[in-house]
Amino acid sequence: MDIPRLLRHYNINFITEGNKHCSNGWVNIHCPFCPGSQDYHLGIQQEGKGVHCWRCGGHTLAQALSRVLNLPEPSVRAIMRGYGANTSQRIRREEAKVSIFPLRMPKPSSSLTAPYKNYLKKRKFDPDKLEQEWGLSQTGPVSLLDGISYSHRILIPIYWNGEIVSFQARDITGKSKLKYLACPKRREKIHHKNILYGKQEKWREEKGLIIVEGVTDVWRLGYHAVATFGIEFKMEQVLQLAKIHDKFFMLFDEEPQAQEQARVLATKLKALGKEVYIEKIKGDPGDMRQEDADYLVKQLMK
Ligand SMILES: [Zn+2]
Repeated sequence: MDIPRLLRHYNINFITEGNKHCSNGWVNIHCPFCPGSQDYHLGIQQEGKGVHCWRCGGHTLAQALSRVLNLPEPSVRAIMRGYGANTSQRIRREEAKVSIFPLRMPKPSSSLTAPYKNYLKKRKFDPDKLEQEWGLSQTGPVSLLDGISYSHRILIPIYWNGEIVSFQARDITGKSKLKYLACPKRREKIHHKNILYGKQEKWREEKGLIIVEGVTDVWRLGYHAVATFGIEFKMEQVLQLAKIHDKFFMLFDEEPQAQEQARVLATKLKALGKEVYIEKIKGDPGDMRQEDADYLVKQLMK
């Protein structure tokens, strides 16, 4: 399908280069879905195989053109067919497996300053230790990546096979609806839900691995721990776990939903021939006192 030709014929302003939102093989237009500044946020893959806004995410081509041309979708599909689109099939949104967008951190960023360290101290962590061990840094009051605001967040790099492949950003104000903001998906070298968080190089040395939900749980429990980035684990993560070790302790948060997911994950690992124990504590592992966490780990590894 010839997208540039269609856009030219309908006088839709587009660019293919010269703007930070441009990338090879894509044309960019002003996003008709999200309000705010117009800066060519919406990318359309030149053959019409994908439509993605840096701010508001994925759309179908028919939806996007319908908005831009102010025409109902059936009329838009008829137009698209005139430019070589096969609209009898639903257009599948393609998720690139290998990202062509370089991984970047929100800017500006810096090493941890007092308010960010105090947030970590309040959560019973040693900020200097975390900075060293886990490579933490921070954003500021106005930090952006691809037009997305990452203000007032601790930046948590995600390593895999020795390199940073993605990041998470933890709000320190308690005011954001999103406690964690992820790296924009198109910039991840590997989607973080396909891998695990922790000290990968240490996992094999341990007697068993403790599976937890999130990064703060890993910080608390240390090198024995491995996190799935939330309770909604993916099969890819189950297979990664199975590759790493034969013995696991599940330590998800206390609430029923988390415990249910822990049981499901345990069942899947057992089906792969693994030894799995479900452990329960009060609250979240990440909120434990350090002494208590160290003691728990010692007991489990006996
Ligand atoms: Zn948008």
